Amino acid sequence: MSNDARPVEGNTFECETCGMQILVTADCQCESGEPFFSCCDKQMSPAGSTSD
Ligand SMILES: [Zn+2]
Repeated sequence: MSNDARPVEGNTFECETCGMQILVTADCQCESGEPFFSCCDKQMSPAGSTSD
């Protein structure tokens, strides 16, 4: 099974520096690459990521 890095509805991204969070409310539909979010001049990382 392919583990896409693209965010789907419900994913949360968190800034590890200031704690700000972004909630994804719609699946990412981009055909290539993946979106990334930045805060505090750093890339935000998925919050509460579970390894499935
Ligand atoms: Zn921040």
